[in-house]
Amino acid sequence: SPDTVAETAGINVSKLQITRKNPSTPPPSSSLVFGHTFTDHMLTIPWDAKSGWGSPHIRPYGPLALEPSSTVLHYAQTIFEGMKAYRQENDKVTLFRPDMNMKRMNSSARRIALPTFDGESLLELIKVLIRLDKHWVPKEPGHSLYIRPTLIGTQKAIGVGPPNEALLFVICSPVGPYYPKGFKPVALYGTTEYIRAAPGGTGAFKLGVNYAPGVMPQKDAASRGYDQNLWLHGPEHHLTEVGTMNMFVVFKQENGTLELVTPPLDGMILPGVTRDSVLSLAREHIAGKKRLGNLPDNLVVSERPVTMKEVKEASHSGRLVELFGAGTAAVISPVDRIGYLGEDVLIPTGEGGMGPVSRPIWTELVGRQTGAIPSDWSVPV
Ligand code: PMP
Repeated sequence: SPDTVAETAGINVSKLQITRKNPSTPPPSSSLVFGHTFTDHMLTIPWDAKSGWGSPHIRPYGPLALEPSSTVLHYAQTIFEGMKAYRQENDKVTLFRPDMNMKRMNSSARRIALPTFDGESLLELIKVLIRLDKHWVPKEPGHSLYIRPTLIGTQKAIGVGPPNEALLFVICSPVGPYYPKGFKPVALYGTTEYIRAAPGGTGAFKLGVNYAPGVMPQKDAASRGYDQNLWLHGPEHHLTEVGTMNMFVVFKQENGTLELVTPPLDGMILPGVTRDSVLSLAREHIAGKKRLGNLPDNLVVSERPVTMKEVKEASHSGRLVELFGAGTAAVISPVDRIGYLGEDVLIPTGEGGMGPVSRPIWTELVGRQTGAIPSDWSVPV
């Protein structure tokens, strides 16, 4: 079974070594470009098939030494995660639902026969890393520390198979808001020439191999005047994901009920933390557990397939309420048109870019992410 391929001994937090660097001064938040600046330290944990996970090491951020034969460089044996830490007004730093990222990282590791690990231990170590570089967590509203755990196969021999060596590392990058000047709706290119994922493929996992093939279609969409790809699947052109975000659409049913729809986790959709959070908030509202101000009462939630035919017809008949992407980087990304088979399908956008369903959900979500609204989703560092 895949589990015996990636045999593990647990990560031993007590063996952590720390090599400190003199703390440096982070650049001004206003100059941050997403993913270009890194904090003083990184975490590395080696693994080999004989002895399992080795001693964790927090050390100055810097280059890794890899042999040219390392399997990651040939067969894309790499998986990653993306999560954020926020600084509250009282200077407390918190993570948002990091257990979900640990779970998903293990699921990704299993899918490509990289070693699995216990998520709680890795999370403990990530917290130590963030505490050490705490002065790098930006204070300004909308800013955060983006955390990028990565696991690569480092077997020093060419040949496709489960690697006998691997390296887990974690780097951190202070980032600004995705929409510094308020929400700007994006235009999508309904992509029929290329696919992101296929049944039985790897779309449901956060593997490096899922991302490089999307770059050329993204350039293609940009050259046609669209911001991102809307990944469609199958002869009926089912909507799957938006660029590197999950996708939501809101329809008005004939009786006036609003239906918030997202495609089901059928193996082609990445199980996003933001996706799960949007669904949970909408369902808590409907169940009356936690009502969200301004979120309509006549709301239903569906995880079901959606086709371009349905979206196009709803756009024409006025039953399309909004369509948006959801992910860690942008949180909610409203969409105002989809280029589809030579025509533009128009999508309403509400005041300030966000619609009647996404806006109250966004407000609650950002409140819980930053810790301004207390919830058990917010985890102290
Ligand atoms: N889909 C894809 C393909 C992604 O890369 C991401 C970003 N991780 C998402 C969806 C959104 O996931 P999350 O909400 O966990 O960031």
